[in-house]
Amino acid sequence: MNFKRLTLPEIINYCKENGFIFQSSEIYDGMQAIYDYGHYGCLLKQNVKHLWQKEMIQKHNNIVGIDSAIIMHPNIWKASGHVDNFDDLMIDNKDSKKRYRVDILIEEFAEKNNKPEIIEIMNEYIKNEDLDGLYNIIIENNICCPISKTCNWTKVRHFNLMFNFKDIDDNTIYLRPETAQGIYVNFLNIQRSTHQKIPFGIAQIGKAFRNEIIARQFTFRMREFEQMEMQFFINPGEDEKYFEYWKEERMNWYINILGIPREKLRFKPHEKLAHYAKAAVDIEYEFPFGFKEIEGIHARTDFDLSNHERMSKKNLHILNPENNEKFIPHIVETSCGCDRIILMLLSEFIQKNENRFIFKLSEELAPIKYAILPLMKKEGLTEVALDIYNNLKNKYMCSYDDSGSIGKRYVRNDIVGTPYCITVDYQTLEDNSVTIRYRDTTEQKRISIDELY
Ligand code: ATP
Repeated sequence: MNFKRLTLPEIINYCKENGFIFQSSEIYDGMQAIYDYGHYGCLLKQNVKHLWQKEMIQKHNNIVGIDSAIIMHPNIWKASGHVDNFDDLMIDNKDSKKRYRVDILIEEFAEKNNKPEIIEIMNEYIKNEDLDGLYNIIIENNICCPISKTCNWTKVRHFNLMFNFKDIDDNTIYLRPETAQGIYVNFLNIQRSTHQKIPFGIAQIGKAFRNEIIARQFTFRMREFEQMEMQFFINPGEDEKYFEYWKEERMNWYINILGIPREKLRFKPHEKLAHYAKAAVDIEYEFPFGFKEIEGIHARTDFDLSNHERMSKKNLHILNPENNEKFIPHIVETSCGCDRIILMLLSEFIQKNENRFIFKLSEELAPIKYAILPLMKKEGLTEVALDIYNNLKNKYMCSYDDSGSIGKRYVRNDIVGTPYCITVDYQTLEDNSVTIRYRDTTEQKRISIDELY
């Protein structure tokens, strides 16, 4: 059968219809770039997080976990450079009153009009902080606002992406825009309490917040999202070695563990390094809207720990037992967005033909592993089916469903990616066997109930 991948509008629709992802605050007309995960979405997300944690913590004796607070001391964000440097370049259209990210506005124009040279000039201006140059690109190329269709623009300005609010003592408090800083400020606590020696890593999954200027592409760019970050603490001088090591490790995770084809992934070195980075590369996936970042691997040197030492006036050196000298470790980080990974899985593994949707997730990723279905809602069949459900649910995420025709129930399970449907029928009552139906092939096999446990 000829199956096709979905377009982005089809994915958005699929997610709402089938309980994966909803627009947040929908009954109040929604919040831009904020989303809620429904039953199947949050189970899928848990599985992604579990696979990441397994890869990082379970498979590495020298990587440990942390769950740090979202709200931290405001000086952390001064030391990290986020208060001064964590911004995007924006421009407002005076007629529509809409705000745009300058790089995205120019990039979209250049791609649509096949003018790649404009992107090169733009990158040069961004590198040199030439805001007038960027403004001139927009004016000279007559790049208009898609809403008002006019070129009536303000000047290009910086816009800090951190959300902030006042606490009861009138201090400005920030919502963290990355989880990494919670790791840095705890690194000595963690290192001492888990007896780790360089090189070692600390891994964290948690929410991050960015007041993104342009909200689009569904969960690709959210204002509240979840990151999975691992900070690897190394000897100075080993930056390149571990940068290369983690680059390959992370690429292999997408291919071997999540099952993404290699040709849909690529490395993209950064045009402009972030304020903290010595080397940086993105892993990009080919979404329905083109190749875009899913993970960044950054060599951050001792930038963060040195700045925290300076700002906090606490000693963040550790001892090198080989030469008895104290030093500040360097850091290589791997940082990916859980929500972007989910969008990648939706883009890659949902397939459709004219009358059938099938979400071809691996067994480890599928929200539900087994659906237990009595052929009919009849006495005898439902008891046996419930008995199987009650046995399997202790080990696997299962569902029990006795409503509607069996064909419809198979279709419902294909849609949400359940790899196995177990059907109890009249033969079950005679010989203790059930049929197991495989989602991807629709093949059905008769097996003994005992084989399920
Ligand atoms: P972009 O260039 O797309 O804005 P970034 O380079 O700022 O991303 P990082 O700061 O490197 O992103 O963050 C690490 C990861 O966190 C990204 O690779 C991405 O998967 C995720 N991420 C960052 N911003 C968002 C967002 N607004 N919504 C969803 N995920 C995000």
